[in-house]
Amino acid sequence: MRVMTQLAMVMNLDKCIGCHTCSVTCKQVWTNRAGTEYVWFNNVETRPGQGYPRRYEDQDRWKGGWETDRRGRLRLRAGGRFKKLATIFANPLMPNIRDYYEPWTYDYDTLFTAPEQEHTPVARPRSLISGRPMKVEWSANWDDDLAGDPSPDPVLQSVSEQVKLEFEKTFMFFLPRICEHCLNPSCVASCPSGALYKRSEDGIVLVDQDRCRGWRMCVTGCPYKKVYFNHRTGKAEKCTFCFPRVEVGIPTICAETCVGRLRYIGPVLYDADRVAGAAAVPDERDLVEAQKSVLLDPEDPAVQEAARESGVRDDWLEACRRSPVHKLIFEYGVALPLHPEYRTMPMVWYIPPLSPVVDALGRTGHDGEDAGNLFGAIDALRIPVDYLAGLFTAGDPAPVREVLRKLAAMRSHMREVNLGRVPDPAVSASVG
Ligand code: SF4
Ligand code: SF4
Repeated sequence: MRVMTQLAMVMNLDKCIGCHTCSVTCKQVWTNRAGTEYVWFNNVETRPGQGYPRRYEDQDRWKGGWETDRRGRLRLRAGGRFKKLATIFANPLMPNIRDYYEPWTYDYDTLFTAPEQEHTPVARPRSLISGRPMKVEWSANWDDDLAGDPSPDPVLQSVSEQVKLEFEKTFMFFLPRICEHCLNPSCVASCPSGALYKRSEDGIVLVDQDRCRGWRMCVTGCPYKKVYFNHRTGKAEKCTFCFPRVEVGIPTICAETCVGRLRYIGPVLYDADRVAGAAAVPDERDLVEAQKSVLLDPEDPAVQEAARESGVRDDWLEACRRSPVHKLIFEYGVALPLHPEYRTMPMVWYIPPLSPVVDALGRTGHDGEDAGNLFGAIDALRIPVDYLAGLFTAGDPAPVREVLRKLAAMRSHMREVNLGRVPDPAVSASVG
């Protein structure tokens, strides 16, 4: 057993209000420079929606999906008329600036310099990249404003298709995303220059700017589209998990400034020898359990001994034992990985959102979080379980249902505690 440590994150989606504070503070710290105007290492997507860059989740749609070779390395299945292309390149689909969005500012001068006229002057948008006036046609979170309206744009129409929008059934939530700092990172595997690497001490995936030659194979190779190309420097850039901050014991900037306090950071232990095998399990629906099987229990004396033999320091072992990430995944069992079917073994996991139960068991208007109501009522949640399963469990609704039941039971319990109907010494102790 080769024990390694990995810094990981869990985000509780019930708490995200889509304020974008995390994105803005990340941008101020990391991508507030020429060449990275369109880049958001941290973005917050509207769900349902196309994401950022748009339709990044559909990138395998022509080629038959992802698969792994015998060593667990990710590649696209070559198929159809793209077979030759897919053989040459790991992933021929490269997002363009319109898929991200062309960033703009406004010509505010017009407001002061326009001659007197019938209508109030308008500050028109101007491209931050070319400097020319532009028409804004798309940007991340465009879906916020769609609200189910059929759009003349065929791409946007697919959003309505996706959720089969009927007004009373509409739902929306936010999905904050950073680089997944994967255990099996396809960006690292796809770089011909060896510029991308995974740090052995904490698993953070970084780009060596001196070695990067601007091939952009990492941009196409990352299924989460979390490597970006700086068009000024000609180099790839990506989320660094704020390594200069975490190295001195302070959280990432997105976590520190998160208004909803929904980001949990901590290290986990994993068996590096089992990563390739777990990434290659044939059935996609087994991938969540396969990924969990790679992570190790820091309370297990055998694991502790193997970790020491592998060079894991005692203070890291202690941090793993106290890690909220480990607790949320294993002890409480409420966190799930994003798109495990991409097979990169992502290390940013999510607690799925528990929306209100709509008309639970025929009791119209009841929020239905009472644990008793939930058996049989989970499928009446406003956010369809199948939609969440498509995000977190490769389409298997069973693990999502299990998590939602736990969350509902806890919410119901806490309501009783807060109303003083049920004593809970654990809550009193933590409040006291
Ligand atoms: Fe690499 Fe993409 Fe995984 Fe980040 S999310 S480690 S960029 S493959
Ligand atoms: Fe969501 Fe927190 Fe980001 Fe606001 S700061 S959008 S609550 S993750």
